[in-house]
Amino acid sequence: MTKEHKARKRFGQNFLQDQSIIGDIIRAVRPQENDVVVEIGPGLGALTQPLSGCLKQLHVIEIDRDIVAYLKNTTYAGKLVIHEGDVLKMDFRTIQGAKKIVGNLPYNISTPLLFKLTEFVDEIVDMHFMLQKEVVERICAKPDSKDYGRLSVILQYFFDTEKMIAVPPAAFSPAPKVDSAVVRMIPQVGRIGQVRDFALFHRLVTQAFSMRRKTIRNNLKDWVNDETLQSVAIHPNNRPEHIAPELFVALSNALTP
Ligand code: SAM
Repeated sequence: MTKEHKARKRFGQNFLQDQSIIGDIIRAVRPQENDVVVEIGPGLGALTQPLSGCLKQLHVIEIDRDIVAYLKNTTYAGKLVIHEGDVLKMDFRTIQGAKKIVGNLPYNISTPLLFKLTEFVDEIVDMHFMLQKEVVERICAKPDSKDYGRLSVILQYFFDTEKMIAVPPAAFSPAPKVDSAVVRMIPQVGRIGQVRDFALFHRLVTQAFSMRRKTIRNNLKDWVNDETLQSVAIHPNNRPEHIAPELFVALSNALTP
């Protein structure tokens, strides 16, 4: 197989081709020779090749068999540890050490993948991902903004998040229909408190944002009364988008037996 590989839509294949953006991403990742770096979805190697040039070894996770065959024939194949399969089924603990995770992600699986990665937060040094721009804005959003929601609260519970690089469709082949951006996520568990029951926290936040235009009292009417909301300094008439992540942590703990 050659670079003539026909991009597969079902695997979200939009290959990076802009060398200046590729350089910006590698500089943001700052790979050091002995780092344990894991790239999700290496594709035809746009990031894999320059990353492997900085490292002794590079783990890559790829679902497309034809691409795996292609990677095995590259000049940098000797540096690669290839994990063939679906990243959503990957147990990241099987890769030893504190990991830097990188990827120009398939956009169709980005939300479940980000939630999955929270399970391995204690093994992660940092993550740099190319995502749809709107998703990056939601990940990084602060309260009182239209982008602030479930993704912001859950991911900011685990990570410090920062939008790094704006990327236009022309940077890819084929060009996606949407703008993209690179986000940096650094583990920061505890910064906004510690939830006692994460599953409950996740359900609570999902329910709280189920109807953005409604008040928190309304969205959580089957969960909490006004007294409990007020006990953690949440005004029952507030909309969810005005409630800071740490207040959701406090509310979740108030509901944890
Ligand atoms: N990194 C390359 C680049 O920047 O040009 C390719 C990026 S492309 C947007 C996404 C890559 O993820 C493709 O190689 C695709 O085959 C792979 N992929 C898609 N779904 C996957 C999954 N569930 N598990 C692992 N890899 C996947």
